[in-house]
Amino acid sequence: MNTEYEVVIGLEIHAQLLTKSKAFSSDRAEYGEHPNTLLSPVSLGHPGTLPFHNEEAVEKSIKVGLAFGSEIERFNKYSRKNYFYADLPKGYQITQFDTPICKGGKVNIKLSDGTRKSIGLTRAHMEEDTGKSIHDQDAESSLIDYNRAGTPLIEIVTEPEIRSGEEAYQFLSEVRKVLRYLDVCDGNMEEGSFRCDCNISVRPKGSEKFGTKVEVKNMNSMSNVKRAIEFEAERQIELVKKGIVFNSETRSFDALNNRTISMRSKEMVNDYRYFPEPDLPPLVVTDEMIRKIAEDMPALPEEMFLKFTNEYGLSEYDAGVLTETKALALFYEEVCKINNNFKSVANWVMVHLKAYMNEKALDFEEISLNAKTLSDLIKIIDDGKISHSAAQKVFTELLERGASDPLLVAGELNLLQTGDSDLISEFIEAAILKYPDKVEAYKSGKTGLLGLFMGEVMKLSGGKADPKSASEMLRQRLES
Ligand code: ADP
Ligand code: MG
Repeated sequence: MNTEYEVVIGLEIHAQLLTKSKAFSSDRAEYGEHPNTLLSPVSLGHPGTLPFHNEEAVEKSIKVGLAFGSEIERFNKYSRKNYFYADLPKGYQITQFDTPICKGGKVNIKLSDGTRKSIGLTRAHMEEDTGKSIHDQDAESSLIDYNRAGTPLIEIVTEPEIRSGEEAYQFLSEVRKVLRYLDVCDGNMEEGSFRCDCNISVRPKGSEKFGTKVEVKNMNSMSNVKRAIEFEAERQIELVKKGIVFNSETRSFDALNNRTISMRSKEMVNDYRYFPEPDLPPLVVTDEMIRKIAEDMPALPEEMFLKFTNEYGLSEYDAGVLTETKALALFYEEVCKINNNFKSVANWVMVHLKAYMNEKALDFEEISLNAKTLSDLIKIIDDGKISHSAAQKVFTELLERGASDPLLVAGELNLLQTGDSDLISEFIEAAILKYPDKVEAYKSGKTGLLGLFMGEVMKLSGGKADPKSASEMLRQRLES
């Protein structure tokens, strides 16, 4: 960590909105289809075609604003941002310029040392995505796939309030989690549905004046964003230390070699010749629309986190793990409504359920487990009908079969604990025969040896002896 210089970072996130059709046409918005099949003359901007608003994209953008406490713009104008590039079929992009649908707002983050911080948002505006150039599939030519062209995006821009790679990482994780909770974006960085450009500058600690900013692009994972920032900040600090003045530019992150490389200078700044999109009427958002969307908002991760720590008494760590995805958080909450052993429910979801999901590479949605089944399983453990280790076998069996009665499955697997005293007595006698010298030692005061005998009894019973009655009987027998 450098103590003389401060790193200043502002992020621009492009998130694809999960809509069935594109932003300004009825073409399907889908990833991974055969190239250049999701296109109509509207997406291509052919003469005589007219774009129109996608209501779902507007609603999802408003949801994002409400989640982050932004002010929602009522009078939404659209502009054309003109530039010539192969991936832009129309030669311009339809985007919001001076009336972003969301203004202001903030995102609360927590750093790994426990510090909390709030990052201000400047704006979030609606726009359409470009097509995609493919440079690595043909030796001679660049290929182009226009399927992505016209996909609705929300671009979220932060204030320059981020101060380290870690803060950027936590900020992005939080934003992505919220977008996923809202079902507005799948947040897949590798497929490019959630992308981020970093603006980075450095300045001497205590200075008010911002340094020259460099924009870094092309990071396809959160950890690459962190690495890119750390590298770029270090590079700039070295230059500043040597008194070298540099210009604003755009650089690309080279993950393989862990460095950034210059793409283009900002000196030749693009003149986008923004002008109002003549083919789209302004979109008016009414109070009624906002009220309806607000009513329909799901619980957000922060709210769930607070509920889990305050109402269910979970540690911040556990609450953090359980609110990572909405599906798991909702499931946990549902089980807690019928079983008040909150800590144990948390363990089963966080440890055993997640381990099973990881092992089988399944999403929660692909698993058939209902809240009552898990609650019942925990109840039979708490009632002493089954040991914790046997319950794990029952749990796996329930998931494998999609079965719902833990007691029945435990019985079938012959895993129910037995309080049958004749049977337990047999095991006790066998254990005593095995360690005659230890019996003498016990009798002469080494009562800690009870554990050894208990272990033997449990082993002989295959883990099924009810530990409470077994230890009581064992103690009586040894002391007789
Ligand atoms: P541009 O016009 O170059 O796109 P903007 O003013 O729109 O620049 O800002 C884009 C992003 O860059 C925002 O997230 C903003 O917070 C951030 N930013 C602006 N100035 C700086 C700076 N000096 N250092 C780091 N980030 C900055
Ligand atoms: Mg910009």
